Amino acid sequence: MQQQPDIPGVTYITPTANIRSAANGGRAKCLQRLIRLGLPVPDTFAIDFATVAGIAQGTRIDTAALIDMFGGGALVSVRPSSTTADWGGPPSVLNIGMTRAQHSALSHRLGPQAADALYSRFIQSFATQIARLNPDLFDGQDIDAMLAAYEEEMDEPFPQDPAAQLHAVLSAMARAWDGTTARILRQARGAPADAGLGLVVQRMVLGVGNPAQGESGSGVIQFVSSKTGGPQITGRYMRQSQGREALVKGAGALYLTSDPRGTSLQDHAPEIYEHLQTYGGLCRTRLREEMQIEFTIHHGALHILDAIRVKRSSRAALRIAVDLATDGIIPEGEAVLRIAPRALLDVLHHQVDPEATLSLIATGIPAAPGAATGRLVFTAEAAQAALAREEDVILVRRETTPDDVLGMHAARGILCERGGPTSHAAVIARGLGLPCVVGASDIAIDERNRRFRAPDGSTYREGDVITLDGAAGQIIQGAAPLLEPALDDAFRIILQWADERRDIGVRANCDTPAEARVAARFDAEGIGLCRTEHMFFDDGRLTVMREMIFAESRTDRAAALDQLLPVQRADFTELFHIMAGRPVTIRLLDPPLHEFLPSDRRGMLDLAASLDLPLEAVQTRIRALAEFNPMLGMRGVRLGIAFPEIYEMQARAIFEAAVATTPRVTPEVMIPLVSARREVELVKSRIDAVAAQVRTESGVEFDYNLGVMVETPRAALRADEIAEYATFLSFGTNDLTQMTYGLSRDDASRFMSAYVREKVFPDDPFLQLDQDGVGELLTIGAERGRRGRPDVILSICGEHGGDPDSIAFVRAAGFDYVSCSPFRVPVARMAAAHIAI
Ligand code: PEP
Ligand code: MG
Repeated sequence: MQQQPDIPGVTYITPTANIRSAANGGRAKCLQRLIRLGLPVPDTFAIDFATVAGIAQGTRIDTAALIDMFGGGALVSVRPSSTTADWGGPPSVLNIGMTRAQHSALSHRLGPQAADALYSRFIQSFATQIARLNPDLFDGQDIDAMLAAYEEEMDEPFPQDPAAQLHAVLSAMARAWDGTTARILRQARGAPADAGLGLVVQRMVLGVGNPAQGESGSGVIQFVSSKTGGPQITGRYMRQSQGREALVKGAGALYLTSDPRGTSLQDHAPEIYEHLQTYGGLCRTRLREEMQIEFTIHHGALHILDAIRVKRSSRAALRIAVDLATDGIIPEGEAVLRIAPRALLDVLHHQVDPEATLSLIATGIPAAPGAATGRLVFTAEAAQAALAREEDVILVRRETTPDDVLGMHAARGILCERGGPTSHAAVIARGLGLPCVVGASDIAIDERNRRFRAPDGSTYREGDVITLDGAAGQIIQGAAPLLEPALDDAFRIILQWADERRDIGVRANCDTPAEARVAARFDAEGIGLCRTEHMFFDDGRLTVMREMIFAESRTDRAAALDQLLPVQRADFTELFHIMAGRPVTIRLLDPPLHEFLPSDRRGMLDLAASLDLPLEAVQTRIRALAEFNPMLGMRGVRLGIAFPEIYEMQARAIFEAAVATTPRVTPEVMIPLVSARREVELVKSRIDAVAAQVRTESGVEFDYNLGVMVETPRAALRADEIAEYATFLSFGTNDLTQMTYGLSRDDASRFMSAYVREKVFPDDPFLQLDQDGVGELLTIGAERGRRGRPDVILSICGEHGGDPDSIAFVRAAGFDYVSCSPFRVPVARMAAAHIAI
């Protein structure tokens, strides 16, 4: 047993040593847990964050004393230990302490071959990782040539003092953590700006040995599939090898389990294989996590060097969490908390329709799942520029480098001519949840001219649309039909557990039956917003709508509305039917009428033809309807006040649909863009009259709820008097943000990136709720609304409704539910549970 060294910031890891993730990093903490479980972990010392930060600044620690702790002649490894493994860290360095003297000692003990392998590997990794020399200088060279090359480049001999070697390694790793690239990469994975790095110094178990003395080699093993999370033993084992990298690169690995295709660790060393299984089970139950175990066997003895959380897709994460909870290892609530709400979006990945006929451009290595369509760009800058324009792009690179990371963030998919499943592009894309195809060597990229040549000789240029299938490794011409993602049981179960814990409702914003079906499938508790104007964009309906707009008299308008009535009734009937008794909130017509009218001559000519009017008449009417500021003009309830018959038709369609639906629904009718109590009073009296008529005509008694959208600051400030007429208030934070800032939601993108870059706004307030300003109006509106009507139902239905931070905010303000786009519903359900637990 070692002693605690007398070196500040360095701790010998024992079951009782003071090792904390926050000070020593996750790897050091995990090694202590493995030691506590009694696993055979070689001697390990942890260097804490503060000390490593000091080393990066030039402080020296007593590496001679540290290496002496291992006893004479020991080799050691140094590995990074950041707070969580996801934040990365510099690569591990093995075999520190390997010197000429060690080389000859090991030649005697293990044979010259093994000693040569260890020494040359160390020289190579020291030269390239620590001294940062060109790897080509060392590839395929013998030891003498490597030492000569090192001396030639560095103007000093290769260090032969283990303490000096260790110092060089520690300071290179500490400095690498401080580098800009490493910083950007880890911040992209959620690390804070001041994330620390710890280091662990561990006695090497060689993994290469004298075959006569028993099995030697190294491997990794895990007990669940990283893809699905289901039980499956996978990993690699290689005889006479050491370290993860050798395994990843190395050819000739053995199978772990008996396999008809070749020999396996299970056959070679069944007792070791069994031990590994026991250790895996111990980790699962005691560390309450699925771990990948890194092990080395030396002369027949098994050593556990490390264990890390099994890398997992979001789908696997769900399955692992659900299985751990089902087996009683973690509580259900913890399983819910282990899944980041946004991770559910990954399980909702798109897929290329397998039935579709595709025009294949080329294939490559499938590197990250999902499918995406976008325009080709060939530089990271172009991808970022496209993001500012909200354009979907596929970033094509020969191979990616850390310089491309920001561009990758901005792209929908990544395509590389080179690389493999563990290449930079693949790893980053998987982390970002982007579909990625690498190693597409059949395409010839011409980066300078921004194009690539396909195997059939055709050329694809910047701006051309392709689809990338990251699951099949296919590059497809044009926009391929995409299927909605498949959801498995774990998805359903975890959301059920989430639902049992959350205390705020989740509805969906749906305008079409297709969206309502998605919402119902994701167990939305109802429709919180149906924007009826979105029902009019198909061709036949648009013509009738335009007839209505062009009507010069009340009678003409009524005639057009008579045609719209059955269409709307059918729409609402279908929505009620799909939602099967769940509440459906239908918003009366909101947008400025001119949005329904053509803006160019071609469109006006078509309209003139379909309305049988002279072009001149169409142009005059369009001019008459034009507004300087349409978003602040004749829209929302103002339409309803000026042309009461529009809202009356919609109300009739809603009520007639409701009385014809079983199970019976209580329709909710919502008035948009309200700013004054009298608006609500007027509209309510007319809708009440329509309801009375429909009751009489149908002989069916029914209720309805009338609500108001709070999306002008005045509506929030006067919510008390507005609530006298409204049983519910739904905060439309899109317009409320627009009006609170005086910021056009359609034009803000022109300067938004400059505003965010200059930190004028912390975020785009149309994406992240401005809790200080708009949020205050929400709080005021909620309080005053409740003052006017104590049981008023409060909700939010702007785009912020699906955002976890906004959900937390409105829950704290006592809102009853949020309403968001259908695909966001699972994220919102999960986020709501996280807040409540
Ligand atoms: C809103 O303004 O927040 C809202 C939901 O309505 P729309 O986006 O249709 O204006
Ligand atoms: Mg609005």
